[in-house]
Amino acid sequence: MNSICPSVRLSSGFRFRLFLILSLLILSSAPLLSAAASPADGGGDGEDKIVVAYVTSWSDVIPNPHYMTHLNYAFGHVADSFDSVRIDNPSRFRRMAELKRENSRLKVLLSIGGWGSGRFSEMAADPTLRRSFARSCRKVVDDYGIDGIDIDWEYPGSNAAGISSSATDPENFVKLLHDLREALGSDRLLTIASGAWGNGCLFKDFIDDVDFVNVMTYDMASAPRHHSPLHKSPNTGDMVVDTAIDTHLAAGVPADKLTLGVPFYGRGAAPYGNFVNYADLTVRPGCEEKWDATAMAPYIADADGKLLVGYDNGRSMALKCDYVRERGLKGIMYWDYSGDRDDNELRSTIADRMLPSRYPADYARAPRFKALLYYSDKAEPAHVDFARQSIEYFHRLSYGEGYILDRTTSLADYPYERLKEYDVMIVINTMPFSKAEREAFELYMENGGGWIGFHAAGYNDANTHWDWFNNFLGAGKFYCNTWPPQPALLDVNTAGHDVTKNLPSSFVAPECEWYQWRPAPGENKDVEVLLSLSPKNYPIGLKDIVYYGDFPVVWTNRRYRMIYLNIGHGDTEYSDPTQNLLIVNAFRWVVSRSPKGNPFMKG
Ligand code: ZN
Repeated sequence: MNSICPSVRLSSGFRFRLFLILSLLILSSAPLLSAAASPADGGGDGEDKIVVAYVTSWSDVIPNPHYMTHLNYAFGHVADSFDSVRIDNPSRFRRMAELKRENSRLKVLLSIGGWGSGRFSEMAADPTLRRSFARSCRKVVDDYGIDGIDIDWEYPGSNAAGISSSATDPENFVKLLHDLREALGSDRLLTIASGAWGNGCLFKDFIDDVDFVNVMTYDMASAPRHHSPLHKSPNTGDMVVDTAIDTHLAAGVPADKLTLGVPFYGRGAAPYGNFVNYADLTVRPGCEEKWDATAMAPYIADADGKLLVGYDNGRSMALKCDYVRERGLKGIMYWDYSGDRDDNELRSTIADRMLPSRYPADYARAPRFKALLYYSDKAEPAHVDFARQSIEYFHRLSYGEGYILDRTTSLADYPYERLKEYDVMIVINTMPFSKAEREAFELYMENGGGWIGFHAAGYNDANTHWDWFNNFLGAGKFYCNTWPPQPALLDVNTAGHDVTKNLPSSFVAPECEWYQWRPAPGENKDVEVLLSLSPKNYPIGLKDIVYYGDFPVVWTNRRYRMIYLNIGHGDTEYSDPTQNLLIVNAFRWVVSRSPKGNPFMKG
């Protein structure tokens, strides 16, 4: 947004601003936001499931150890000599083992095998090699200080991956797992990864020797079919998550020894690659993101509606987590940590739902409300920076405030029936664009929905064409802004309000691009302006200088459960404790007025 105010005159001189000095004086007396509680380590209340994260030797991301309970390092292999273990990138493996120091309940395992990793057949068939291999595994566990071994033989009795195989692999696999258990002892972990069909696994014969089985419920089909759908639909093959779980239960794996595998990648056909990480997945021109409500999976379709790539997003991941609880499974496993987006959409969706003891004990049984963070990742960089930081900020806040935070860059998947599950929408520098999205949003707000909008969430100019939004915002169209972004002194206009009552009467806000609207919200009788730019700021601006005018910064339209904050430009917005307090106040105030009851007052 860069429309110059008519009250602006260009100046060639550079004006010094004293606000930063002023800010130090004011901040020294400002109330500080108490730090949000950090996720609890240990002491699960029995409601937690396990979260097994595969971390590869070839990625360089250092995982957040609070998102998981088990880290499986991929991979080790049966050595060329068939009698020991070889580890890929051992220095990275050691770094992963060290993550146990940051999360005392984290278990680290070495995963041995993977697609195309061979020599299992020869090793398992020979008692001497097998026992030597098992002792080598035990040595790795001791040397690296890890918790156990995960065997990913893909698959006993099959040479599909270009590895040697034999008809006796399945029974030799039973012997191998037994020898591994002997070598590891009862206090170390021994797990396996199995194919969706249970490929080559005589579960009943080895289940007592393993702690649990990770079912690879992905790669079950290829485009134009979903590769990891929960249920059968016209877009799936015969093998789906539900079928794979039934197959394993019938084969003798108890539910409490079964984890559901989920992919952080899609499987596609041209123009998409066969394998594409969720982080790299974009909707190409002429394509459309769709939701298969039967399979419970998203996909990208071509103009004819044909599936080009099937994958999982936060929505389908949440449904898979629900499924794990419904079926009484042990937990969830994912491949692989590095496939997720920078905003942790998949990792945090899983952690929020599977690990409730991450929340303080008071909220451990059930988070008290749900928030939907709606943002744009395609806006100008300063707006995307703020969105990224907001995701982190509101996610951290969720530990203390006790809520589930979902996030999305599009409301296309959010009809009113789904939106109304949320007690509040946190809207960061975006707004609904399509007619259907706007209608769903209008219905949501007209029926008691909650909205806390930041910065460009209130930007509506002649091209917006949305009269309802003007009534909702309580202001006319966007008129102009200051440039470049600068800090400014804000005055509290309404001191007794819940949102402002513990703020100083004025404070210096971090730099922002300050907006004006015509008519101004202050002219609307339903609007209460809570903070605005102090007249002491004028003239403000370095390039485009403003000499006067009404620059409201925070207001609410009493006819809706909403608050707007002109905060959200750049990466310094969360640097100021007073402004952070304002944000938390505004958030809590909107949530506390939920028609479902004030969640903060519930036991
Ligand atoms: Zn901006």
